[in-house]
Amino acid sequence: MKPIQHPSEIAREALKLLSARKLSPTPANYQECYYEIAEKPHMQGFPEDQLRQIALALKAHNVAQQEQLDQLDLAIRKHSWKGVGLALQEYVQQGIGSESSEGGGVAPPAAADASAYARDCFSKVAGLIDSMRPALADEDEGFAEQMGGVVHTLRDPMADIQVVRDEFDLFCRRLAFAAEEQGQIKHALLKLLHVIIENISKLIMEDSWLEGQVAALIEAVSPPLSLRRLDDVERRIRDVMYKQATAKERAIEAQAEIREMLGTFIERLAAMNDSSTRFHGRLEDGARKLEQVKTLEDMAPLLSEVIQATRTMAEDTERSREELAALREKVQATESEIAKLHLELNNASAMARHDPLTNTLNRKGLDEVMVREIAAMQRKGTSLSLALLDIDNFKQLNDRLGHAAGDEALVHLVGVVRACIRLSDSLARYGGEEFVVLMPDTPLDEAMTAMSRLQRELTRNFFLANNEKVLITFSAGVAQLATGESQEDAYQRADAAMYLAKRAGKNRVLAG
Ligand code: GH3
Ligand code: MG
Ligand code: MG
Repeated sequence: MKPIQHPSEIAREALKLLSARKLSPTPANYQECYYEIAEKPHMQGFPEDQLRQIALALKAHNVAQQEQLDQLDLAIRKHSWKGVGLALQEYVQQGIGSESSEGGGVAPPAAADASAYARDCFSKVAGLIDSMRPALADEDEGFAEQMGGVVHTLRDPMADIQVVRDEFDLFCRRLAFAAEEQGQIKHALLKLLHVIIENISKLIMEDSWLEGQVAALIEAVSPPLSLRRLDDVERRIRDVMYKQATAKERAIEAQAEIREMLGTFIERLAAMNDSSTRFHGRLEDGARKLEQVKTLEDMAPLLSEVIQATRTMAEDTERSREELAALREKVQATESEIAKLHLELNNASAMARHDPLTNTLNRKGLDEVMVREIAAMQRKGTSLSLALLDIDNFKQLNDRLGHAAGDEALVHLVGVVRACIRLSDSLARYGGEEFVVLMPDTPLDEAMTAMSRLQRELTRNFFLANNEKVLITFSAGVAQLATGESQEDAYQRADAAMYLAKRAGKNRVLAG
């Protein structure tokens, strides 16, 4: 049967039904009959009071839930079923969020628990800003204050989201300026440092032992900066400074000694002069007496006097000669001692081209050898290959056995590599646990074979850490320098091959 459509007809029929059923004519009963006739779902009026009682019975366990209860209140006031539904749904979800985070579970997805998740993020961002403080807000008190403020707001569970957002927005803008400024400051400081170092190097060109230090300094302050590299250079320069101070001290002492010796020397010369003057006087005296001598007998005492005078003079001269010879020897010894100290100083400075831990070449040293070997390759028309080695999972080794054992492992590796490569090959520490082997007169296939041999050697020579046998493996990329190719390009090919070796599962050697 077709439902009755017109409202006045429905109203009439509803009244008929009301009396047929003998119901009391209340608005609610009439409404019920009306909807039945109209064949519409049974609709009640908005149960504001009941809903309010339900809302009152609900408790907020966190801020997010409180927000939802406020929303529920608003929806009830506006008689919005949709709002009531949404608020209740969110209220339940926020409850689930706080339960699971109390239990240490993984945070639910943002959509499901947006507010709790956002609070968690806020607190993490606050931690992040806190950790940035020393780097950014050192000199700017206003910025430091703002940082403190934003951290406080981010950590405040009752803070209004809008306030958090506004404060954070402001902070972000200021942070962008501060970060840019810090970058510029770093850049300017480095530039300044370069200028100073260059200036020093111009002033001290004649002091060859300083060259190594200057070169190491320039290398250390070239980006990318690393604390490890700066630390390394500082240690080496301190060593040179110590030797320098010792040499200087000794040179001052030696100067004083030589001055003293020269004084003695002059005194001796004066004494010699005195004795020879005395000798002359005695000879002249003898000659005068000789003129008055009449008999041979009278000549005898005169003769013995002259002989005595001559003997004394000869003895004096001999003593002075010996003393002067001793003095000369002493001066020579002091001179050679100073020369030795300078040599040590030169060696210490040359160490600036070496890695102090493994005593292999460092990058600077490698660059120099590389230039030499490339020139030799071109001159002789031979081949030149290089291999870039990177130890596998070295971080794990450090973490498991400690940094000191890690250092020993590097020294061990270098020992095995040295024993395995040719004397004409060069070994350099390229970075933390990366090494370069430079192989003159070696084509690619032979270089690959050499690296595979090294892999085998390492499986035979375990690294011993506290009596535990540790197998060190590496991944390597090998490249043969093409004619006219720059060393940078060759490194890049070796590096790319090494990267592929890592990706292919490590402990392998690939050609670049
Ligand atoms: P992968 O196999 O991918 O190369 O992994 P890895 O762990 O070797 O590589 P990663 O580059 O992540 O880590 C290298 C580690 O080497 C990190 C650093 O702490 C460590 N390292 C660098 N220089 C030294 C050093 O002089 N001594 C010690 N003990 N460890 C160092
Ligand atoms: Mg590495
Ligand atoms: Mg590695």
